[in-house]
Amino acid sequence: MIYLIKNGNVFTPYDEGVKDILIVGNQIGAIEENITLNSPFVEVIDAKGCMVVPGFIDSHVHICGGGGEGGFKTRTPEIALSDLIQSGITSVVGVLGTDGVTRTMSNLLAKAYSLEEEGLSTYVLTGSYQVPVKTVTQGITDDIILVDKIIGVGEIALSDHRSSTPSRHELSRLTSEARVGGMLSGKAGIVNIHIGDAPNPLALLYDVLHHTTIPITQFHPTHMNRNPHAFEEAKAFVKAGGSVDFTTSTVPQFIEEGEIPAPRAVKEMIKENTENINKITLSSDGQGSLPEFDEKGNLKGLTVAKPSSLLECVQKMVEEEAIPIPLAIQTVTSNPAGILKLRNKGQLKKGYDADVLILTPHFKVNTLFCRGKLFIDKGKVLIKDTFNTN
Ligand code: ZN
Repeated sequence: MIYLIKNGNVFTPYDEGVKDILIVGNQIGAIEENITLNSPFVEVIDAKGCMVVPGFIDSHVHICGGGGEGGFKTRTPEIALSDLIQSGITSVVGVLGTDGVTRTMSNLLAKAYSLEEEGLSTYVLTGSYQVPVKTVTQGITDDIILVDKIIGVGEIALSDHRSSTPSRHELSRLTSEARVGGMLSGKAGIVNIHIGDAPNPLALLYDVLHHTTIPITQFHPTHMNRNPHAFEEAKAFVKAGGSVDFTTSTVPQFIEEGEIPAPRAVKEMIKENTENINKITLSSDGQGSLPEFDEKGNLKGLTVAKPSSLLECVQKMVEEEAIPIPLAIQTVTSNPAGILKLRNKGQLKKGYDADVLILTPHFKVNTLFCRGKLFIDKGKVLIKDTFNTN
């Protein structure tokens, strides 16, 4: 099928004004003013008054479930396709987390393949919080070179009571293995670092950078908005040429305790220097577990972090923090695609994958294409989950 999206306000993520977009097969065929095609094989979609943006990339999701830190019953469930597409997400990077025993790379890969079969674009990182990393093949380098979906390693926990406290030498070797794997396979070989609440969360990274010739761009630390001192470290890391990730899912209690809400974190970063925007990604940490509190602040139970927090964050960046739409969109599209080297992703561009999201003026998902296939049509979900088909 050929689709022609007419009259939308196109953000590639850069503001292109009102343009038409032609989708041919799974690719973007053209982005031009006033494309006209009269053919029974062309379906025209009117996007007048709407924003047309690249499908979102959620670069940190526990797709096969996470959590489990309160015992087995607190292990969170696998993600459903509908949770991702209804939040405008067309590409997802799956990670394990604290649990690298009952959660395995085989399971993570199987879930990534299943979401891919359902129509999304999926990638994974090898390993969990722990060092040494449990890999699929003989090691990190082999995993990245030989397993198509594996684009890097992580999330490796540092400055956290759950970290295996790797030495500088261990982290240097792990990073070099990821780097070489990336070089030989044309992937990023990124090292995703989970930072915890301990002071100086990036000290070990600086130590590695100081003692080796590994570039700072090999690292991509996440949760950098989790407390005020981590956020200050984020600013310094970006100033030094690195990139950082802010987590969008949260609970009010965390904010009261000092977490910087992701929309505000982005605003403050670009207040220092607009160029900083190119170094920031946002991710939902979806399917991680979050605590739930009652009005008195007592722990009531657990809930599951939602990928929808990504879209809510984009909306708040624009509507509450007055961040220009292209900059807000960039943090969930072209930035993760660039930093993670996701080929033909993250931009509306001729020849790129036709991951196209049409948003209403108030950031509700109107229409969604994943690689040229229509998933949501004017708010109606056309592609259902394999099992939950309600
Ligand atoms: Zn984490």
